[in-house]
Amino acid sequence: MGIITTQVPQDLHIHTTFSRLDSAVVKEQTPELIGHVRHARVIGISDHFEHFSDRFDHYKKVLQKWGFHVGTEVDGAEYVDEASQLDFEYYIYHCRNRTREYQAIDRLLLTGKPVIIPHPMVLETDLNRIPPACYVEINNRYVWRDDWKRKIGPHTESFRFVMGSDAHQPLWLNQNMARYVARELGIEETLIFDH
Ligand SMILES: [Zn+2]
Ligand SMILES: [Zn+2]
Repeated sequence: MGIITTQVPQDLHIHTTFSRLDSAVVKEQTPELIGHVRHARVIGISDHFEHFSDRFDHYKKVLQKWGFHVGTEVDGAEYVDEASQLDFEYYIYHCRNRTREYQAIDRLLLTGKPVIIPHPMVLETDLNRIPPACYVEINNRYVWRDDWKRKIGPHTESFRFVMGSDAHQPLWLNQNMARYVARELGIEETLIFDH
């Protein structure tokens, strides 16, 4: 019998060596490696916008070569106008707890592309101020460090949710922590893309 592999349904929060200023990304975390491991049925790459935005065409070409969805992680309002002008398939948006950061979400939503709010507890995002059109991420890297029952629990009926590994290293390509939290909260995952 051959090796049996399992895939999670979707992972849209993955970093690669295109996040060149992120010290947590190891040099082995290349698009090619992720393309070979295929830990998820639907894979999207969401490197930090400000790390590769000057090479967007190359980024997109490499990701599409591997069949990945082309996303990006946008670090707050100051990058929103620039990021919304490039042809991403979805946005992961760092929303810190300041009025201008919440306001910028509307400009991202105007693109018509999915907007995912990642690790809200790390950034102290107030989910009461997030438009329900956004998806909320259960983040495998951080969620277990915080009081997710109290902070996400009250919002399970208000949003659609996605799981994300937020992988910066090959051994993070997994979503077990995020899926445990979602199961405990009775959250059903929304699959944004069919394949
Ligand atoms: Zn992040
Ligand atoms: Zn990230």
